[in-house]
Amino acid sequence: MKTESGKVSRRRFLKESTAAVAAAFTIRRPGLARGAEKELSRAGVVVLLGPPGAGKSEQSRRLAERHSIPVISSGDLLRDHVRRGTPLGLQADSYMKAGQLVPDSLMNPILEDQLSQPDCARGFILDGYPRTLAQAQSLDALLKNKGLPTHVILLDVPTERLFKLLTGRRVCPRCNRSYNIYFQPPKKEGVCDLDSTPLVQRPDDKEEVIRRRLETYQKETLPAVEYYERQGRLMRVNGDQPPEKVAAEIESKLTAQ
Ligand code: ADP
Repeated sequence: MKTESGKVSRRRFLKESTAAVAAAFTIRRPGLARGAEKELSRAGVVVLLGPPGAGKSEQSRRLAERHSIPVISSGDLLRDHVRRGTPLGLQADSYMKAGQLVPDSLMNPILEDQLSQPDCARGFILDGYPRTLAQAQSLDALLKNKGLPTHVILLDVPTERLFKLLTGRRVCPRCNRSYNIYFQPPKKEGVCDLDSTPLVQRPDDKEEVIRRRLETYQKETLPAVEYYERQGRLMRVNGDQPPEKVAAEIESKLTAQ
């Protein structure tokens, strides 16, 4: 915001610079929620697992607000490297465009670097990592020296439901509002309630792409889920209920641990 003299106000400048730095680190830094201080020591690391469409990012956001720890999203981290054109980002780009998992030789250094940032010292939420058994094992090795309690949560949603959640998603290209033709349809078919713009389906929400993403989850990520389950470390949460109910179930499982 420019002042009358045309200078950018100092407060606004500082606010924007801080936001830019936070964005560069792809950290969502929420304010400290009231009553959350008590929870902090318990929060530690929360690993959120679940198939595509299960609501991991929504639940990560809620957990971050509640516990005042950052969300580390592997997809966001990678996209940030691609945008900045780092050597790792340049190599990761082609895998991401092909809808394939980025090899661990690229993914792990990016994640390790992020987790060594001061923001992560008290804990963090992992969204999108681990995606394979090898990544789950690497993560254990990485967290061993950090002395943070680790909680592993699986958002359980039946495949049939996921398929409808993902293929039914439509968005307004103008205001970005999102609908679902099965569960949350617009008032008038095919157009946005707010501005009457025709709704569109994102390219990665197309049926064949979704089928591939779900298959990759079954093949690559389920072995990681089973790895935690075998060790008695997996907490299953019913992801097939309204987001606030899912959030409440997560909190009660975390508290019970
Ligand atoms: P999606 O749910 O569509 O896969 P993400 O934002 O989680 O979206 O990830 C985008 C892309 O980034 C993935 O398709 C994959 O190429 C890459 N990626 C994200 N997380 C990982 C990971 N843990 N290991 C390897 N590649 C990853």
